[in-house]
Amino acid sequence: MNPISYATGIDRAHLGMIPCAFERAWTREEAVMEKWKPKGEVTKGEAFILKRLEKKRKLFGFLRRHRNEIFDEAFQSELEEMYRDTGAGSDPVPPALLAMAVIVQGYLGLSDADAVDATVLDLRWQLVLDRLGETDPAFSQGALQGFRERLIAHDMDRRLLERTIEFARATSEFDWKKLPKTLRVAIDSSPLEGAGRVEDTINLLGHAGRKVAECAAELLGWPLEQVCREARAPLLAESSVKKALDLDWSDPAQKASAVKSLSVELENLKGWLGSQLVAEMKKPPLQAPLKTLAELMSQDLEPDPGGGVKIRDGVAPDRRVSVEDGEMRHGRKSKSKRFNGFKRHIATDLDSDLILAGAITPANRPEEEAAPELKRDIELLGRDIAELNIDRGYIASPLVDEVLGTGGQVVCKPWVARNGNSFAKGAFKINLRDRTITCPAGETEHIEFGSVVEFDPEACDRCQLRASCTAASPGTGRTVAIAENERLQQKLRKLQKTRAGRAKLRERVAVEHRLAHIGRRQGRRARYRGVRKNLFDLRRACAIQNFETIQRKAA
Ligand code: SF4
Repeated sequence: MNPISYATGIDRAHLGMIPCAFERAWTREEAVMEKWKPKGEVTKGEAFILKRLEKKRKLFGFLRRHRNEIFDEAFQSELEEMYRDTGAGSDPVPPALLAMAVIVQGYLGLSDADAVDATVLDLRWQLVLDRLGETDPAFSQGALQGFRERLIAHDMDRRLLERTIEFARATSEFDWKKLPKTLRVAIDSSPLEGAGRVEDTINLLGHAGRKVAECAAELLGWPLEQVCREARAPLLAESSVKKALDLDWSDPAQKASAVKSLSVELENLKGWLGSQLVAEMKKPPLQAPLKTLAELMSQDLEPDPGGGVKIRDGVAPDRRVSVEDGEMRHGRKSKSKRFNGFKRHIATDLDSDLILAGAITPANRPEEEAAPELKRDIELLGRDIAELNIDRGYIASPLVDEVLGTGGQVVCKPWVARNGNSFAKGAFKINLRDRTITCPAGETEHIEFGSVVEFDPEACDRCQLRASCTAASPGTGRTVAIAENERLQQKLRKLQKTRAGRAKLRERVAVEHRLAHIGRRQGRRARYRGVRKNLFDLRRACAIQNFETIQRKAA
């Protein structure tokens, strides 16, 4: 494949950081991106470092040994494709080297600045990047950030994860032939606390208002205090609205008056901007903070019948919880445990232990919403799902019907229908062929999927078992909800009753282990803001996990 050419004048700021081996490719007329060609044979110096890496941080050794296979010619060409549309201004560092750096950065959990330093200060980095003895950094911080953005823009972080599976298939260290041709996939999720600060309504509104005022001050070249004074919004000039108001926040009357005062100042600011920066209000950079402020005011405030506004009763649907991260949401781990941020979802192959796909959703979204994205990524691997092992949260996903429709099996715990001390749903016989339900007293009714069936009120009124069956008032019969997927639920109930079925259900523990590893690697708190950047981080963590799995199985 021909090298990619770029116009002159590109990214000269980075050029000084590039080692001689790459500089040679740049001329006055055009710049040519060279492939990364790290050496294959292990030198004496490398052997010494590899020996030290046999017990701790073993992945460095693995990546050194296999870098030429992972980043083969074809994959390097794919990475170079990311630069085709925007050649001008692109960075001359081989994308494969940057991709390797992105992996190692995720492995050690380093910041961009520390990753750049590590290329000159850490022998392990130098070993993997084929730069032993180099005294200049391998790339700049801007180059690393730009590369990450390109990966995201071209969905190449998905390919990076996929590449680990291709590598597993190709390497003799992983006996792929022993694995079945179809996939047995397990899906699960875990909470990921968002990186943005979560604040109460007063602080959230004050923070959003201050961002608007700061942006206006920047545009006008004024100090923030002057903007706030001119706009009659002095509270926004303070670092904390609550500190500036200095009230007894446990007193509902004082709190209510503070909300009114703050809202008046926010309206003052908006009105003042309309007179000073009306054109700028509709374009960046002022447009975004104004939109955030409007969103927060409409979700958290409502008209007060006594005049002005008050904090909204109840929680607005899809409520934004952070000024800095507009995609973070309130979520629940269980009835009592809440978190703010996202849910990370992974799909693993139960036979190879490799992670096939990852997805991120805001914390308030149901699990099933991640299934289409996971399915799309799995489909791109070109293998069919023969068995889907899932948590109940994913049962309403269309993926379940698709797997069943192609003759596959779905393994999941059935919903448990409890009814206090009265007969549970399990005490009723449901005949799916005849579409009937028969109660413990022998009364039969017709059923429809996705509806609630009510037994004949007269029969229930005279029934001797009524006290054990329903607490409904006389004249009302016992009701039973029939699920949309009742046929599947019945299958799952049968599965759970057998020893083999229970053993199958326990296989899902493998995906829980993978998730626990990913959680430890990524930490409890998200590294980035927003769904997409955190998806990048999740896919990177999954790729690293897969390399470790391949390494472990080969050992
Ligand atoms: S109360 Fe109604 S539904 Fe319940 S057992 Fe008696 S007849 Fe059947």
